[in-house]
Amino acid sequence: MLACVLKSPAPVETAPLEWREVARPEPRTGLQDAEVLIRVRACGVCRTDLHVVEGELPVRKPNVTPGHQVVGVVEKGGRTIAAGTRVGVPWLHRTCGECEFCRSGRENLCDRPEFTGWTVDGGFAEYLVAPEAFVYPLPESVSDAAAAPLLCAGIIGFRCLRLAEVSRGARLGLYGFGAAAHVAIQVARHWGVEVYAATREERHRRLALELGAEWAGAADARPPEQLDAAIMFAPAGELVPPALEALKKGGRLILGGIHMSPIPSLPYSLLYQERVLRSVANNTRDDGRDFLKVAAEIPVRTEFETFAMRDANCALRTLKQDGVRGAAVLVND
Ligand SMILES: [Zn+2]
Ligand SMILES: [Zn+2]
Repeated sequence: MLACVLKSPAPVETAPLEWREVARPEPRTGLQDAEVLIRVRACGVCRTDLHVVEGELPVRKPNVTPGHQVVGVVEKGGRTIAAGTRVGVPWLHRTCGECEFCRSGRENLCDRPEFTGWTVDGGFAEYLVAPEAFVYPLPESVSDAAAAPLLCAGIIGFRCLRLAEVSRGARLGLYGFGAAAHVAIQVARHWGVEVYAATREERHRRLALELGAEWAGAADARPPEQLDAAIMFAPAGELVPPALEALKKGGRLILGGIHMSPIPSLPYSLLYQERVLRSVANNTRDDGRDFLKVAAEIPVRTEFETFAMRDANCALRTLKQDGVRGAAVLVND
């Protein structure tokens, strides 16, 4: 089969992914962790893929194939998922099921996790394997390319919304307005939450307003209202102090990224009055199932631009330059 292979991390401008022939993976069929073989139709491109390809995340598997928002069709089924089923494969590839975090409903914090497209091969390829217990059957109503961004951007955004603890009438800030935010705003609006979007690109501000934001301004601009909570999707630590400054007493700032530039020192007064600063790590399978259900009910509409699978370097470059409206999705023809 053909796959994008990362020989060694480097700036995307140097095209570090090589589209080449590799052995097709074989699903393992042990009792604990039966895997399915999936023929990939589409795979979303996430900022985390950029961190893997450029080396902000250390190499965990040499020659890895990135990609963790995979939509495909099961070719070799397992015990619970039949061949022919259309499924999604997310970032959380597998957990140990035994550590204190797995046993207390916090499998997102597992001590021995595997991650799709980082510690094991992901979906920038024609095929991949995944444990059937960790893939999601997808609703019919959504197309392959439209479903892909739901699988990380959507699920992580949903977990951020949950941790932000917002409900009807609350005011929520979104910092950075890419793939995750453009889905999160639709869920937030569905819940009756007012959204204030702060982002550096004019076209992203326009998209935020089209999707129902009350206000859209520059990344470090002060929203016109004090916020109950905010979610930061931009990997920019320097935005943390202004975002804290925009919060009401007791407000929560949720950091949605896996990697962030250093957070500058801040006066304690920005955090005092019980403001909360909290990161989000990965997701549980419940987050995934609950989100996909809500997304189908609303229904969430994703904005995306497609690229051919072999053009992954180009898609990543465009993402890095904030050039994608909504999400970038790679497709196999
Ligand atoms: Zn991701
Ligand atoms: Zn565990």
